[in-house]
Amino acid sequence: MKITVVYDNEVLKRGLTAGWGFSCLIDNDILFDTGGDGVALLDNMEKLGIDPSDIRSVVLSHGHGDHTGGLSDLIEENQDLSVYALTSFSKWLKNQIPAKTKLVEARKPMQIRKDVFTTGELGTCIKEQSLICLNKRGVFVITGCAHSGMHRIVIAASKFGEIYGVIGGFHGFSDFDILKRVKLISPCHCTSYKRELARAFPKQYVRCGVGLVIE
Ligand SMILES: [Zn+2]
Ligand SMILES: [Zn+2]
Repeated sequence: MKITVVYDNEVLKRGLTAGWGFSCLIDNDILFDTGGDGVALLDNMEKLGIDPSDIRSVVLSHGHGDHTGGLSDLIEENQDLSVYALTSFSKWLKNQIPAKTKLVEARKPMQIRKDVFTTGELGTCIKEQSLICLNKRGVFVITGCAHSGMHRIVIAASKFGEIYGVIGGFHGFSDFDILKRVKLISPCHCTSYKRELARAFPKQYVRCGVGLVIE
């Protein structure tokens, strides 16, 4: 399994574009979130050798523009997609996407591929879903903004097995203890305490940005 960050507040390689938001690709067929800007998203993909027409599923963590802004430009390139969105956002999306694009309301946990699942809607105030990728090493969790709280995400992800890695926006997460058994920690996008996380987990910490590839 290969995870490629295609949109983030930071870049790791020259020539790629940073922007407030997040998006990453699982292998070449599942896109998690779409960043804030479609032009930058597609440009980053092109520079990373990713063909948007290979994408089969788009999972949106939540309805905020910094995670959904690139969707319409992506759909212009590839309509043959299934888009998984939480209830409130899928209601809004219904009138925005072409008939050929399948919209799936993802309130409950769902299976996207044989080894990729969603946590379903988590949280109370701003609801959000995370992505669960299963591989030989364990559970790899991908978060959008983690508005629902890392605690809830870790509980939901642990049902799939031992958590090996976590990547994505960690928001205001500061209860570092709950990640102490995780082997790979790559906070990005909206994470408030990136520096503190790097200090608390020197061995596990992986610097995130557009162009990061985790295999
Ligand atoms: Zn958000
Ligand atoms: Zn965000």
